[in-house]
Amino acid sequence: MLKFVSIEKEMPEKRDADQRREDFKEIYGEYAMEKARQQAGRCSQCGVPYCQSHCPLHNNIPDWLKLTAEGRLQEAYEVSQATNTFPEICGRICPQDRLCEGNCVIEQSGHGTVTIGSVEKFITDTAWEEGWVKPIKPAEERAESVAIIGAGPGGLAAADRLRRAGLQVTVYDRYDRAGGLMVYGIPGFKLEKDVVMRRNAQLEEGGVKFVLNCNVGEDITFDELREQHDFVLIATGVYKSRDLPAPGVGAKGIVRAIDYLTASNRIGFGDTVAEFESGELNAEGKRVVVIGGGDTAMDCVRTAIRQGATSVKCLYRRDRANMPGSQREVQNAEEEGVEFVWLSAPKGFTGGDAVEGVMVQKMRLGAPDATGRQSPEVIEGADYVEDADLVIKALGFEPEDLPSLWNVPELEVTRWGTVKADFRTHETQIENVYAVGDIVRGASLVVWAIRDGREAADAILDKVMASATDVAAE
Ligand SMILES: Cc1cc2nc3c(=O)[nH]c(=O)nc-3n(C[C@H](O)[C@H](O)[C@H](O)COP(=O)(O)OP(=O)(O)OC[C@H]3O[C@@H](n4cnc5c(N)ncnc54)[C@H](O)[C@@H]3O)c2cc1C
Ligand code: SF4
Repeated sequence: MLKFVSIEKEMPEKRDADQRREDFKEIYGEYAMEKARQQAGRCSQCGVPYCQSHCPLHNNIPDWLKLTAEGRLQEAYEVSQATNTFPEICGRICPQDRLCEGNCVIEQSGHGTVTIGSVEKFITDTAWEEGWVKPIKPAEERAESVAIIGAGPGGLAAADRLRRAGLQVTVYDRYDRAGGLMVYGIPGFKLEKDVVMRRNAQLEEGGVKFVLNCNVGEDITFDELREQHDFVLIATGVYKSRDLPAPGVGAKGIVRAIDYLTASNRIGFGDTVAEFESGELNAEGKRVVVIGGGDTAMDCVRTAIRQGATSVKCLYRRDRANMPGSQREVQNAEEEGVEFVWLSAPKGFTGGDAVEGVMVQKMRLGAPDATGRQSPEVIEGADYVEDADLVIKALGFEPEDLPSLWNVPELEVTRWGTVKADFRTHETQIENVYAVGDIVRGASLVVWAIRDGREAADAILDKVMASATDVAAE
């Protein structure tokens, strides 16, 4: 029997809320207001807002920058939240250098971008502190119900929009906390957890029901969800870690990035994590080698530094210019003491039961492949061993096989295993079943999941309204 689990227990305690307010004053205060206005005032209102077209949500950036520059923060917030469900989250963790800020005309002319993300974060944090963030209060209750599988940004953005329109929304998640990778993937030093919990509480107070610790496919079947609800939205993300078929990979001390980051985030919540206590998922006092060049690898190296590792190295088989992760993150990591070992790939691991080192093959970049990227080639005879007590594999994620796990063969997937959905409405081949976020796109970004969630919610609402109109016309 499934029980609705209240997430109230996860609301930041009052002490935390007070502390946050103190921090806010200290960090922001007059100076921060001045800084935000000054940054916003640098926007040239160029009239060709590439920043806006390169923001997945097409945020009306020039307008809210102008309002901020004029000190009209509440209006700036209203404009910003009109297109973004979680602006304070995107302001913190969007890779702005690849999105809005990277395309700022001032950046392109060599004068340094307007810090759009920081301003977005500032105005929304201010909105929370000033009480401008409105609770979710639907004008009318509607009978239609939606099951959302997955409480990550895709699922939560849809939940917000659907609930505001009065639909009955239940979010199912196999974790014990809502937030998806915003809670257990992304480290707290990039995205403070109470910022996510505050949004969870807002949704719950607005009438969204959360069924946590509920693994769809095990605790409840997909068919049962379809029977109990008018619509189902799949927002399960991608969690199957890519592995490394190299000799010695099964040794103690070689761990998956998701396990390492989840443990660290749980410790941040005050949970007891046996694998952390035992040292298995704790970098303190260890020589750490992280394998991979994406944002997950950056989060691992920066977490290891904070846990007190004696050294942290990041192995990547291409060079700096060709790494998939954000350049800003690399710079942050370097400033914190991480050493990047470019053009280096793991060939195997030394040690017995426990890892002692990574056998490294040196690489060079050869001819471009079909995608235009230069392929790494092995430099023969240049192998060496990088000493390590803890090796973290951050090689990316793939989707789980949902049609088999959920016994829904009619749920169509692509050859990569991602769920096939209409790119505009996000409806799958199964009527009234929608899919959004990473499970459709493959590992992507929070801001894209938010966009998908909003669009799918709109498509569901269009259907609801159309059938209501049909009924009225009969
Ligand atoms: C370490 C790391 C760092 C990242 N850093 C950034 C960053 O800085 N900026 C950025 O924009 N993006 C970042 N990303 C990517 C971003 O987190 C994802 O793109 C985004 O969270 C995807 O949202 P989603 O809603 O599709 O899925 P998720 O956030 O993955 O949420 C899916 C939810 O579904 C639940 N679920 C899965 N299967 C089931 C099931 N069978 N039954 C019930 N529940 C289920 C999961 O428990 C989870 O809560 C990062 C990703 C990782 C791994
Ligand atoms: S949502 Fe992300 S990309 Fe869009 S303006 Fe905000 S920080 Fe930039």
